Amino acid sequence: MAIIGIDLGTTNSLACIYRDGRAELIPNELGKYKTNSVVSMMEDGSVLVGAAAKERLITHPESTAASFKVWMGTERQISLGKRNFKPEELSAFVLKQLLQDAERYLGEPVEEAVISVPAYFNDSQRCATKFAAQLAGLTVKRLINEPSAAALYHRYSSQTQDDSQMMIIDFGGGTLDVSIVECFENIIEITAIAGDNHLGGNDIDSAIVAYFCEQNGLSENQLDSPALSSLYRQAEEAKIALSRNGDKTETFRAITNGAETEASMAIRQGEVLYGLTLTNSLLRQLCEPIFRKVKAVISRAMKDKGSACRINDVVLVGGSAQLTVFCDYLEELFGRRPVVCANTDETVALGVGLCAGIKERAQELQELVMTDVCPFSMGVATYNDARDNNPHMAFLIQRSSMLPASHQGNFYTLFDNQQKLRFEIYQGEEYFVSDNLKLGELEVRIPPGPAGQQYATVTFTYDIDGILHVSAHGSGGDHRERMILNSRFQAGDKALEQAYERISQIQLAAGGNQEDQLLLETAMRLYAQMTGNERERVADLIQFFERHRESGDLIQMEKARREMRKQLAAIEIYLYTDPLDLDFWADDDNGEEEE
Ligand code: ADP
Ligand code: MG
Repeated sequence: MAIIGIDLGTTNSLACIYRDGRAELIPNELGKYKTNSVVSMMEDGSVLVGAAAKERLITHPESTAASFKVWMGTERQISLGKRNFKPEELSAFVLKQLLQDAERYLGEPVEEAVISVPAYFNDSQRCATKFAAQLAGLTVKRLINEPSAAALYHRYSSQTQDDSQMMIIDFGGGTLDVSIVECFENIIEITAIAGDNHLGGNDIDSAIVAYFCEQNGLSENQLDSPALSSLYRQAEEAKIALSRNGDKTETFRAITNGAETEASMAIRQGEVLYGLTLTNSLLRQLCEPIFRKVKAVISRAMKDKGSACRINDVVLVGGSAQLTVFCDYLEELFGRRPVVCANTDETVALGVGLCAGIKERAQELQELVMTDVCPFSMGVATYNDARDNNPHMAFLIQRSSMLPASHQGNFYTLFDNQQKLRFEIYQGEEYFVSDNLKLGELEVRIPPGPAGQQYATVTFTYDIDGILHVSAHGSGGDHRERMILNSRFQAGDKALEQAYERISQIQLAAGGNQEDQLLLETAMRLYAQMTGNERERVADLIQFFERHRESGDLIQMEKARREMRKQLAAIEIYLYTDPLDLDFWADDDNGEEEE
C-alpha cells in the first residue's frame, strides 16, 4: 500500500509518489499533473472536480466553487446549487479525485498521505485539512509546510552539501509563504516563516478586472455572472500570456507589438464590445500594491531570523512566481535575479512526495533531516489582579520555536477560595489578548486557599504537524483537564461520522471519460460566452459530439474528439480577437465563396 504526497492548493492540487529512487508526479486522467481545485455539482447530484469543473464557473457559477481553501478552518458555508458545504468538505472532493486518479495510475490502493499546508496556516486551518483527508478516506501521516516541502526538494535536487541559507518565496493563487532555510550537509532547518493567507495571483486577476471595469466605465456588480466570470478568466489568461511572451501553447493569444508584448481582453454586453490591452508595464503598475504587501512579508521573515540573515539564494516557487513583473520586482528589491525553479507550480508537490518517501523509510532518503518552526506565538490570557478586565498574553510557545515544542507555565488564583481557574487560549503576537485570535478555553478545578497560593500548571505542546495540544492540572493533585482544540474536527466525533456519511453519498462525476466531459463543458462555456452565428456553431458542435458519444463507435469517437479539440481551440482564439485584427477586406483569396 502506497503513501502519496499531496499538494492541496488553492488553485491547483497535485499528487506525487516516491518510487524507484525519485519523486514522481502522478498525472490525472487528462494526463496533467495539475488538477484545478474547483468543484461543481452536476444536475444528477454527482460532483465534478478539476478542469471540467473550472469551465462550469462560467456556465454554472451558482453550483461551482473555487478558491475555497482560503476559507479552511472557518464556519463558512459554500453553496453548490441547493446544497451547502463547508470548505473542508469541498477539499475532501478534491482529495477524493486525486486519490482516484492516483489509484488508477499506480494500480494499487492508497490509504495514506502526507499533505502540505501553507506555513502560515493556523491550528483550525490545519485541523480542517486533516479532517478533509479523513472525509476522503485518507489517513494523514504528516502535515508539512508548503515552503518546507519546496526547500526539501530544492536542496535534494541541487545535489549539493555546501552550507547555504536560502529564502523560499511561494507565491501561488491565494497564499504567499516566505521562509528562511538553513542547510548544512543533510540537515535542512527552517529558521523563520512569515506569510499571508490572503495574497496571491487571484488578487492580481481582481486588480486587472477592476481596472478593466474602471477603464470601460463599467461596474463589476452590473455585469451578469457569465460576463464577470469570463472577465476573470481572461484576466488570468492575459496575465499568464504576458509572462510567457506570447507562447502559443496557451489558448490565449498575446502578440508582440514593437518592444512590448500585449494581451487583449474583451467582453460583450448587449451590442457593445468592451476591451482592454494589457502590457507588462501596465500589469506592473496594477501589481504594485500587491507587491508592497509581499515585501512586508519578506521583511517580517528576515526580522524574525535576526541579524544573521545572509541569503545565498532566493528561490521562487508557486504559479505566480512565473510572472515576469514579479521577478523584476524582486530583482530590484534584492539587487540580484532570484532563482526560479523549473516548474514553479510543481516544486511543492515534489517535496511532499519526498516527504512521503521519508515516511515510507526509503533507504536513499534516510539521511535527510528536516526541522520546522511554528509560525505563531501561543499562550493564555493572564490578569494582573481580580479587577483587570483587559487581560494580556502569557506566552507559552514563542513563534519560530523549533517543532515539536512543549512548554509549561503556572498560573495562580486571584482571590481567596477560588474554586477553579479558567484559561483562554490565544494565538498571535499582540500584547492584549483582545488583539489576538482566540483558539479555545479550558477550565480546571483547584483546592480552596488564600489568593495567590493555589495554582494550575498549563502545558502547551505543538506537534510536528503544527497542531496544538493543551493540558492543565490544578495544584490540588491529580485533577487534569485535557484540551482538544477545534473539537468539531476530532476523529471519532459525531460530526466526523455525519460529515463522512454525507460526503460518501456523493459520487464523483465523469467516472467514464474525463476528457469528453472537459470537451463538453468547454463547449458549453464557449456557448455562454459567444453570441449570434458563432453561438450556433458551438451548438452544432455540441450536438455532433453528443451523437458520436451515443453511437459508441470507438474509432468515430476518437475522430470526433480530435475534431472537437481543433474546433474549440479555434473558437477560443476567435473569442478574444478584436474583429479589426482579422482580415478586413473582402477581396482576399479565401473569401466567403468557400463556405
Ligand atoms: P496554489 O498553490 O495557490 O494552488 P499555484 O502555485 O498553482 O497555486 O499558482 C496558481 C496561480 O499562479 C494562479 O493565480 C495563476 O493565475 C498563476 N499562474 C500560473 N501560471 C502562471 C504564469 N505562467 N504566469 C503568471 N501567473 C501564473
Ligand atoms: Mg501552492
